[in-house]
Amino acid sequence: MKAAVMEEIGKVVVRDVPRPEVEAGGLLLRVRACAVCGSDVRTIWHGSSHVKPPRILGHEVVGEVCEVGAGVSGYAVGDRVAVAPAIGCGNCVYCRSGHTNMCPELETIGFEFDGGFAEFMTVPAKAVRQGHVNKLPSHLPFEKAILAEPLACCLNGQEPLGIGLGQTVAVIGAGIIGLFHTELALLKGATKVFVIDVVPQRLEHAHSLSEKIVTINSALVNPVEAVLTQTDRYGVDVAIVACPVGQAQAQALQMVARRGRVSLFGGLPASNSLGFLDSNLIHYKEIGVFGAHASTAAQNRLALQLLAHGQVDSRHYVTNTFPLAHIVEGIHAMKEGQIMKAIIQP
Ligand SMILES: [Zn+2]
Ligand SMILES: [Zn+2]
Repeated sequence: MKAAVMEEIGKVVVRDVPRPEVEAGGLLLRVRACAVCGSDVRTIWHGSSHVKPPRILGHEVVGEVCEVGAGVSGYAVGDRVAVAPAIGCGNCVYCRSGHTNMCPELETIGFEFDGGFAEFMTVPAKAVRQGHVNKLPSHLPFEKAILAEPLACCLNGQEPLGIGLGQTVAVIGAGIIGLFHTELALLKGATKVFVIDVVPQRLEHAHSLSEKIVTINSALVNPVEAVLTQTDRYGVDVAIVACPVGQAQAQALQMVARRGRVSLFGGLPASNSLGFLDSNLIHYKEIGVFGAHASTAAQNRLALQLLAHGQVDSRHYVTNTFPLAHIVEGIHAMKEGQIMKAIIQP
C-alpha cells in the first residue's frame, strides 16, 4: 500500500510499505480521510518524544472497516468509523475514572502506533476494547467527521472552565482550534467572544461566524487594553490560549477578570516553556489556570454529534483536500499558515 512515512526529522516520503496485518481483537481500516494537525507539523520539523521514525503519522482519521480481527464483536466490514486516537491502559486510576487522556501509559495512533496517512491503518485491540472506534452518524460525511478529534480536544479543554450564559470569553489564536473554542463558548451561552490574532484574513473569517464575535488584531493594538476597554475594565470571565506562544499566556492572565479562568490549551515548545506566568496575578485575582491534553473516547462521540447536527458548522473548516501523493504540499501549506486544515484523502 501507499503511505506517507516520516523517515527522520524534516523528511516525509510517500512510498510503498507492506499492508499492516490486523491483530486479534483489532480492526483494519481503509482510510478515507486523515487531517494534518498542528502537532503533526511540529513533530515533522522538531521531532516528538512519542514518535520514533520511521513512523506513519496521522491521528485525525476516519475510514471504513475492511477487516475484523478475531474475537471482535459489534463491528462489521463496511462500517464507517472515526477513531479516538489517544488510548489509555484501561486499568489505572485515571482510566477507571474516565479520564483516559491522563493515563500515564497513554499511547496514541499516529505517535506510538502507525497512523492514517496511508491507504490502510490498523486499530489496536486495546482501542477497540475501550470504545475508541466510533461509528459515524449516517448522514455525516467522512470529510466532516474528520473534525471530531480536534473538536473533542476543545471539549476536553473547556470542561473545567465553566463557560455559561452571559459570560464573556477571549480566545487568543484564530486557527481552527481557536475557532472551535469560540463556537463552543457561544453554544454554551457566552454573550461575547473576543478573538485575537495577528493575521487579518483569520480575523475576517472569525468575524463571519457570528455577530457575537469581536476581533482584535494584536499586531496593531495591545490586546489586553482592547479587552479591558470593552469590558468596563473588568476583563473577561474566561481566556483561552489557543496558540503556542508564552507571551499570549501572560496576556491571558492580564485580560481575565478577578475569579476568572484561563486555559493554557496550546502547549509551548519544550525548550521555551518557563517564565511566562506572573503568579501574583493568579494569587491576587484568584484566577483558576487549567491545562488541556488530548481527549477521551466519550468526548469524541460528543464531537461527532455536534458535527452531525450542525451545531458546529464544519463547512467553514473543510476547505483544502489533498491526495496522499501530495501530502507534503498540504503539510507545507499548513506550516506556512496558508490554510487552516489540510485533509488528506488516500
Ligand atoms: Zn490533532
Ligand atoms: Zn490508564
